[in-house]
Amino acid sequence: VNIGLSGDITRSLDRGAEGIGLFRTEVPFMTKDRFPTEVEQRAIYREHMEAFEPRPVTMRSLDIGGDKALSYFPISEENPFLGWRGIRVTLDHPEIFLVQVRAMLKANAGLLGELRIMLPMISNLTELHAAQQLVAQAFAEVIEEGVRVKRPQVGVLIEVPAAVYQARLLAKSADFIAVGSNDLTQYMLAVDRNNPRVAGLYEEAHPAVISALREVARATHAEEKPLGICGELAGTPIGAVLLMAMGYHVLSMNATHLPKVKWVIRNIKRRDARRILAKVLHMDTAEEVRQFVNQQLIDAGLERAVPSRQAM
Ligand code: PEP
Ligand code: MG
Repeated sequence: VNIGLSGDITRSLDRGAEGIGLFRTEVPFMTKDRFPTEVEQRAIYREHMEAFEPRPVTMRSLDIGGDKALSYFPISEENPFLGWRGIRVTLDHPEIFLVQVRAMLKANAGLLGELRIMLPMISNLTELHAAQQLVAQAFAEVIEEGVRVKRPQVGVLIEVPAAVYQARLLAKSADFIAVGSNDLTQYMLAVDRNNPRVAGLYEEAHPAVISALREVARATHAEEKPLGICGELAGTPIGAVLLMAMGYHVLSMNATHLPKVKWVIRNIKRRDARRILAKVLHMDTAEEVRQFVNQQLIDAGLERAVPSRQAM
């Protein structure tokens, strides 16, 4: 599940979440009027980890900037989506990153669930290596304090087109790869995801986006690393079928979509999904992709998963 508020824990588990694939840690930061302390962060993270134990919990490091603002840390830019956001902010402020990672590590102490730390907006290898060094530093500090913690998995969130072309290198250096298809779509198509005037151009089933997702899958498989996705696409029946065919191991989504997506992937054989994907990879437009995959779902008796004609 994708989560940010502890109020969503029960609903997520009730709906069958098998882990947290994306913890949007900026959400608890946004509800405060100052940076939460290490102790406060630890308590918030621990609540989620305990509730999900022994399932894995993927914590994204603070992803502010772009459309996500903290009242007590204003960022003013002409072009915020191309500006200071995600990992760029936390690498410039290692003290924020270190406190956060220490809180995550301590929150996970003594629990069985695996802690995965996910880095947003990575656009080059240097950022990954710098963040890995900081995680190692935080780990050493926590051990030094005498808290017994396990080494976390550190992964990259692929959201910037450049990262698609360096996916193999990133996968080699990281412990896992996940795709943030919301931002990846926005940056690939140069369409502001929040601008209604161009909303019609924002299209996750665009053949270029599908091709990028497949490229990331191939690169990550070549390095034999776990692969996930946590954008809205994963929570759609069309996306779920195509992503399953590409070999994505983790689909993470809003709790609302969990039962529907589970139902779809349990009723489509992987062999059939691969056949659908093979055809889709030769299609020219998003409309063609949507119509074709929806028809396949209908033919498989899954018409309840197909949105009404207007929504297609
Ligand atoms: C994404 O970009 O796809 C993503 C999961 O992150 P967010 O929607 O929080 O930017
Ligand atoms: Mg994002």
